[in-house]
Amino acid sequence: MGKVEIARAVLAAEVAKRTLDHAQLRLIAELDDPHELALLLRIPLGAARRKLDQAAALDRLPVVAGLLRDGLVDLDRFEVVRKRTENLDAEQARAVDAGLTGAAEWTTQELKAETDRLVCLVDPEGAQRRHVRAVRKSSQVGYRSMPDGMALLTAYLDAVPARVIFDQITADAESLDDDRSWGEKQADVFIDRMLGSGRPVTVHTDLTISAKTLIGLTEEPGYISGVGPVEAATAREIAAQGDWRKVLVDEVGMPVGVGRKRYRPPEALKEFVRVRDRVCQAPGCMRPAARCEIDHARGFASGGVTEARNLGPFCEVHHYVKTIGLYRFTRELDGTRHWTTPLGFVYTTRPKPIAEPDPP
Ligand SMILES: [Zn+2]
Repeated sequence: MGKVEIARAVLAAEVAKRTLDHAQLRLIAELDDPHELALLLRIPLGAARRKLDQAAALDRLPVVAGLLRDGLVDLDRFEVVRKRTENLDAEQARAVDAGLTGAAEWTTQELKAETDRLVCLVDPEGAQRRHVRAVRKSSQVGYRSMPDGMALLTAYLDAVPARVIFDQITADAESLDDDRSWGEKQADVFIDRMLGSGRPVTVHTDLTISAKTLIGLTEEPGYISGVGPVEAATAREIAAQGDWRKVLVDEVGMPVGVGRKRYRPPEALKEFVRVRDRVCQAPGCMRPAARCEIDHARGFASGGVTEARNLGPFCEVHHYVKTIGLYRFTRELDGTRHWTTPLGFVYTTRPKPIAEPDPP
């Protein structure tokens, strides 16, 4: 068997497994007893309860359940949607589910972001209520001693300040030019910042918000690079703070420009492309665009233009495999991307609007 046939057989086995997972959940729904199920499958009671929750979600989430049955998403991704919609009522859950018809093409990370965005959209008040409760109940800073004179310091925080802190640490570390390892630089600037001898490096974190949400006409979630969707109320609150860079979007939900006084083309163009695409363009890669190179889809040498439609972010790894010609990449005018692997499989990614398009 050649490698292409092997790859096809791997995929066929995966599809069969997913279809069987769906069939098993249908049966488990009939069984309806976690203790019986735990003994039957030799799994912990908690795992048996989760399977029953998943079984009950098949009817609650018909679109994603159908994708599982047809082998187009796996049980892990079905669980992502179930877990993130469990606090919604049946009608809201169905509305989120209806927006996930494209889930077959998304990785777990992309599915999480899109599900969160839809949850914010169908239940903005509930999303904010749960967020406030989580900040109150789950926020914590921990300390654990580790071997070799080290310790693990953890912080479970509101995602927005957490991201700002992380971006600040990254920017500080990037400003250091010496032979310390990357991790050591990050740790050193973290210590400097915490103990009060930090250097004045400031970062700009992007908040994307539609004009209608900004003035309170709609409750569409905003989007923060590196964090994902945030409820409309939080987005408005952040937009009122001066140190955030605001990105407004047009009627189809794509960014129209970057709120900045200076206009210096290629840098402004690069910024626009980063904001528009948000992450690395390789399918499934969630590396934030701020940590990516902006590169031509069609190479400059082969006639590619230096315009937004031919530019996009690539992380170091994907930039490398593309540049050496191992993987081929094309970008269509509407932003649809095709990634061709060495075995000849083509993966297509479609541009995702940052905000809901206006109704026609
Ligand atoms: Zn990448």
